[in-house]
Order: sequence, then C-alpha cells, then structure tokens
Amino acid sequence: MTEKRALFIIFGGSGDLAQRKLYPALYGLYYQGRLAKHFAVIGTARRPWTDDHYHDIIKQSLVGAPGSAHQKTEFAEHFYYQSHDVTDAAHYVTLRDLAEKLDKQYALDGNRVFYMAMAPRFFATIAEHVKSEQLLSAKGFNRLIVEKPFGRDFATAKQLNDDISQAFSEEQIYRIDHYLGKEMVQDIMPLRFANPLLGHAWSKDFIDNIQITLAEDIGVEERAGYYETAGALRDMVQNHIFQIIAMLTMEKPARYDAASIHAAKRAVLSAIKPYTPTQVHDKFVRGQYLGGDDIGLSYREEDNIASDSTVETYVAGRVDIDNDRWRGVPIYIRTGKRLKAKQSRIDIVFKPTSDNILPTINDAPVGANVLTLIIEPETGMHLTLNGKEIGTSDAVNPFTLDHALDQDELAKAPEAYQRLMLNILDGNKLTFTYWAELAASWHFIDAIRTVWDNDKADGLAFYNSGTMGPQQADDLLARDHRQWIWQGDTTK
Ligand code: NAD
Repeated sequence: MTEKRALFIIFGGSGDLAQRKLYPALYGLYYQGRLAKHFAVIGTARRPWTDDHYHDIIKQSLVGAPGSAHQKTEFAEHFYYQSHDVTDAAHYVTLRDLAEKLDKQYALDGNRVFYMAMAPRFFATIAEHVKSEQLLSAKGFNRLIVEKPFGRDFATAKQLNDDISQAFSEEQIYRIDHYLGKEMVQDIMPLRFANPLLGHAWSKDFIDNIQITLAEDIGVEERAGYYETAGALRDMVQNHIFQIIAMLTMEKPARYDAASIHAAKRAVLSAIKPYTPTQVHDKFVRGQYLGGDDIGLSYREEDNIASDSTVETYVAGRVDIDNDRWRGVPIYIRTGKRLKAKQSRIDIVFKPTSDNILPTINDAPVGANVLTLIIEPETGMHLTLNGKEIGTSDAVNPFTLDHALDQDELAKAPEAYQRLMLNILDGNKLTFTYWAELAASWHFIDAIRTVWDNDKADGLAFYNSGTMGPQQADDLLARDHRQWIWQGDTTK
C-alpha cells in the first residue's frame, strides 16, 4: 500500500461536517497506512483556537475509532489550526506561508487538497483569495472539494461554478454526491456491462419501466432551516436521483475512467428534455406530510417551519429519455420524508412475455421480471422470475432470487467519506459529479420549480406520515396502467 502525500486545507475546520465526517475519514486512511508521515492538515475557521485545542477536537472526533490513544495523538499532531476570516486577504498570506512551511516539513510534493466545509456563499471569496494570494501549489496537484448543495437553481449553480472556476479547472474540482459512493450504485456498472444477460436486455425492447425510490421515514429533523429553502426536489431529485438515472441509462462508456463515464452521463442527461408547464402538471406530483396523534408533527408544525409553508417533503414524477435506447420507457421517481419505511431502491421492470402458452393461476397474466437493487438500509438485489408452481400444478408462479451483500465484508469496507478522501488523493473522479451533469439536471428541475413556485399551495398534496405518500403518486402510474412495485414493505 503506497503512502499518499498531501496537505489538506479545510475551510470550516471547526464545523459539523469536519468533525463528524472529515477527521474520522482521514484517520481511517491513517489507520490503514494510506496516510502516514507525509501528510498535514490545516483547519481554518473563525474561532481563536490553539493547535493544542485543535488536537483535542481531532481526538474527540475519533472516539470509538480503532487504534491506540498513542496512534490518535500522533495523527492529531499532523493538524494545524488557523483562525481565519475568509474575507481578509492577509489571512490567506499567513495560510500560504504555513502551507509552504508544512510542505517542506512533511515533504508533501506540493500536493494540496482544498476542502470547502462551509456554506457555499463563502466559496467565491475563498476561490478568489486562493488565486490572488497564490495558495495554489506550482508543483504537485491542487484539488478542490465541494459539498452539496451546488446552487438552488441553474443560475446560482452556474454562478457558483464560475466563482470556483476562477481558481480551479473542471479537472481539479471534486463535487461530492454521496450516493455515487454507495455500494449498490457502484454496482450498476458491473451489472450492466459485465453481464451480457442483463446488458442485452437493457433497453426499451425489454424494459417496461424503471422505478427509483429514495424513501425516508424521518421528518425534517434539525435541518428545518435549510429544508424550508430547498424542498425535496432540490434536496434529493436534482442531485442523487439524477445521478442514479444517469448511471442506469447511460450508454456504455468507451473506457472505465471518469472522463468516459462523464461523457456518457452527460449525453444521456442532455436527452432528458425540460417539461412545459402542462407536462409538469401531468407528470410531477408534490406533497407535504401531515402529523397526528401517534404519527408526530405535521411539517408545518415543526420548529422553524412556516405555518403556511408550501415546501414539498415528497416528490413523485415521470422522467422520459428522448433517445433510441429509452424512448417510451418511463422512469418513475419518488422521494419523501416520513414515509412508511426507510429504503432507497431501484426496480427495473421488464416487459412481460407477450405470447404466453403456459397455464397461470386463475388465468392471470404472467408477471413481469423485476430486478431490484436495494441501496439502503440493506444492501443487495432481488431478481423476480417465473417458474412452475410446486406440485401437480403446471401453473406459472413467480419466485425471487435474492443476493445480499456480505455483511462482514460490508462492515470491513471503509466509510463513505474515507473512500471519497482516498479517491480524491488518487485523482479518481469516478464518484464525483461534473458541471455539465449538474447543468442538465438543473435545467430540468428549474422548469418544475418555476411551475410549483407559481402555483404556491395549488396542487400541493398532503399525505399522512407513515404512508407511501399522496394518492396522486399512485394515480400517476395508474394513468399509465402501471403501479409502484414497492409499497413500503421492508422485507421485499
Ligand atoms: P457548520 O455550520 O457546522 O460549519 C461551518 C464552518 O464554517 C465552521 O467551522 C465555521 O467556523 C466556519 N465559518 C463560518 N463563517 C465563517 C467566516 N466568515 N470565516 C471563516 N470561517 C467561517 O456547517 P457544516 O454542517 O459543517 O456544513 C459545511 C458545508 O458542508 C455546508 O455547505 C453544508 O451544506 C455541507 N454539508 C454538510 C453535511 C454535514 O453532515 N454536516 C453534509 C453534507 C453537506
């Protein structure tokens, strides 16, 4: 295992993300030996902390992590704190001096990772100063890591992109979409491109429809302030669901590398045409959860939520891809809070046999083959096929092949952020999103958002917590003579 060399500069080093995710992820790499002697971290934030205090914070963030107290102390000693006002140019000069000193001290080969672990409104200022105060290293790599949300519509996303592009090229920008780091999302490519059995059937000729569900059973929790400005469409559909659609429907990339995969994703996303207002009304549904005696508060009763809020906590819709492979195959998507169960899954529903000669129970039509990928909380897949009913009957009867990912292996797999950090150090952009992908998805989302913002409460469907969302989401499929495969039963 080769040791990586890099300096990490974390903007927002005292924040929640840094403490809960980034420090444990870096420690995980250290514990594995991927980071050893040749790395250093500069944490910057407003508070006037000393390095010693910062080391204590780092060690606190590692409670429960494997390894000895001695190892954790040694790890923490690679961390340096700078009290930093992001708008003050002088602070970037100090930061540059410290970066150069640490580069020599730890022999970091000029490799720098800039991590934006703070609110996006600061990114422009940071990027501007990183450039003007020459924080980019002349040798080695410079990589910028950006979290979600990436804009709140196309215009703000483009502005954000233009801002960070002042200092960093597209190749140097790593935009995180943590769904791309999930095992089963990463399994889509091998399933499609290493199994001719599935690969040949992966088109409108064999697939009837695709269903993507990202269901949460919790409500808005402590994210109320942010959620009120976002809603489910921005929070889940624009990023995670669009990335899943792209992985499922892109053409086979020329090679297994980030640039080829990105080109394939970009091509398929650009074949999704933004909807007209009439199409938005026909093809998309939005809802908001209601509470009750045993089911908690309604969305509008939650802390920091307006009592007349029209923000959607649920979205369902039909997406169509206008290309030869997929024309006419609906991709039904849905996501929501306070639903019956927590599960993220993909159901690929194949066309049923069109010329059945076999007997069936009560002469029912032969069921469709369904390939289901369970992304979380369990991780695995089911394939529903048709066989013969056991015994003297000749009737066709569905059965399911189940594959659960090995729990022991999964437990040994690194946490999502640790894997992302390693990818960043390796320069592997497979699990990150490119600007053109985001631009395409924002165009589609904006068309829906504009209609909903104009409609305000009109058309907002309320649903009881603990259900699978509003009736209108079922009607959406019923109009196409289809239904949701998953009804909230976590054993299926
Ligand atoms: P946070 O509020 O906990 O931390 C913000 C950090 O920014 C703090 O270190 C604070 O000191 C620093 N800061 C704020 N204003 C500053 C200023 N003027 N000058 C210098 N430093 C300043 O936020 P967070 O939850 O860590 O989130 C950071 C970013 O990551 C956000 O963009 C958020 O959307 C994103 N994100 C967070 C999580 C998470 O789990 N927390 C998950 C996904 C994405």
